[in-house]
Amino acid sequence: MPNTIDYDGFVAMLHAAGRQINDNHETLSRLDGFGGDGDHGSTMVRAMAQVEKAVAAASPGDMKALCNDIGWAIMGVDGGATGPLLGSLFMGMADAASDEIDSATLAAMFRAGLEGVRKRTRANVGDKTMLDALVPAVEAMSEAAANGADTVSCLRQACEAAQKGAEATKDMQARFGRAKNLGEKSVGEQDPGATYTSLIFKGPLKGIDSDA
Ligand code: ADP
Ligand code: MG
Repeated sequence: MPNTIDYDGFVAMLHAAGRQINDNHETLSRLDGFGGDGDHGSTMVRAMAQVEKAVAAASPGDMKALCNDIGWAIMGVDGGATGPLLGSLFMGMADAASDEIDSATLAAMFRAGLEGVRKRTRANVGDKTMLDALVPAVEAMSEAAANGADTVSCLRQACEAAQKGAEATKDMQARFGRAKNLGEKSVGEQDPGATYTSLIFKGPLKGIDSDA
């Protein structure tokens, strides 16, 4: 991957993220079955199908419009919290997107995406939600970009942080989403939302990093 990501490169990342979700949909549903209603895998498969649809319908070259279109498309996915949360991540990313993404822009996009998510929820790190993967990922990416890392290294740092964050949710008690109703019984498995967030970072790295 060159040091900047152009439109085609970004689309390739989206395809890779989608494949990673589709390959792991059973795990996501199993995790959701532990604390929720067991539909998270199918919700995410539908969300990724909306991403593909938005990509196919977009006019190539306009990254901001693409992120916005994807955000709106995901927002329309029914199934609970995922549509609004993941949708607003992309809508937020659109604010900072440009047609040639360098490390600083990539980090700015994810920071803006996180801000978008934060407008939708008061959940924070420690509440056993997707924020437990997203927040450390965005922080790690920002730090890497500030230290002059290239886009691949930024993604790699984000992916590692997201994975660690997702694993940490295993020992947490859910304070948001359907799993909250379980109280202490929600401890013991990874949060599905944090898990899909780490998969979204992992997908694009596969093929670049053999150990990703
Ligand atoms: P869905 O029906 O979309 O599967 P869930 O309630 O099962 O919705 O939640 C799926 C994931 O979304 C959770 O694992 C959690 O990470 C995240 N989530 C749910 N509700 C919230 C919330 N209010 N704030 C932040 N994240 C949430
Ligand atoms: Mg669910």
